[in-house]
Amino acid sequence: MSDDNNQASAARRQRVQRLKKCIILMFLLAVTVPFVLCIILLVRVNGMNRTLDSLTSQIEKLSDMVQKQQEQMDDLAAETVVTGHGLSASGEAGREAEKQTAETISDKAGEQGKAEEEPEVIAGHKVYLTFDDGPSAYTDDILDILDSYNIKATFFVVGKETDSAKEALQDIVARGHTLGMHSYSHKYSEIYRSPEDFSEDFAKLQDYLYEVTGVKSGIYRFPGGSSNTVSKLDMCVFADYLEEQGVRFFDWNISSGDGGKELLSVETLVENCTADIEKYKTSVILLHDSTAKRTTVEALPIIIENILAMEDTVILPIADDTEPVQHIH
Ligand code: ZN
Repeated sequence: MSDDNNQASAARRQRVQRLKKCIILMFLLAVTVPFVLCIILLVRVNGMNRTLDSLTSQIEKLSDMVQKQQEQMDDLAAETVVTGHGLSASGEAGREAEKQTAETISDKAGEQGKAEEEPEVIAGHKVYLTFDDGPSAYTDDILDILDSYNIKATFFVVGKETDSAKEALQDIVARGHTLGMHSYSHKYSEIYRSPEDFSEDFAKLQDYLYEVTGVKSGIYRFPGGSSNTVSKLDMCVFADYLEEQGVRFFDWNISSGDGGKELLSVETLVENCTADIEKYKTSVILLHDSTAKRTTVEALPIIIENILAMEDTVILPIADDTEPVQHIH
């Protein structure tokens, strides 16, 4: 009887032992499995994050490139619409179109009210060299060239805040040139989105230039010109805003053609800048102060020499009494 009891209690102990082992094993599994899973998940999430980061930066780079190309296309389109330079290469037809556009523009400029009507005899040509998009790595070279001919020009600058850009802005002013505004961001999609966006960008640049140079600029050039085909809103809205601010905007009636994607030859630039000057009493020439525009700097001395060789022609910086050339209004 006691043997039976002993056997029964030994078997019970064994069962209890097994049960205990089972419980401990289950407990260990319950703790370690989620832990290991967590670690595996963490490692995988980290890896995916890294992939996501690199994909995001690639997408940003791509969209930057797309935007830059879009802006270049816009610039080109705006200039082509205005000057007919897109056609000028194709001979007589191009020349004719260019002439007609030029006449339209000069008519429009005449409508501004200030111009004395002198359609036949044009006595005294005033030429204004204007440089957009700076400061750039070439600003210094451009300033040196202008100095060497003792000529003053006009720089329509954008919001660049590096030390060298600030120095260049101060140089432009110190060396007697006119400082104009060309938007802080130069991003068509942002500045032309709404009157609020435009005025915010405008104030940011005007304040920044005042802070750096002490000059409160009173002239503006719209990115793409006032006749650009990019803005969904009527450009008159922005032109009216500038007028309210007491700021005058200047387009151009002669384009060097250096705003496009392709780097133009010195010869082409000189031809584009000088061929039509005699047509106008006031010529506002569009050039670019941009690191990508090496040939513009190379062509500049020849452009200046050719203009100076023209009879009764002067090169001036834009001043308060300069009659604006405007594509709209
Ligand atoms: Zn520009």
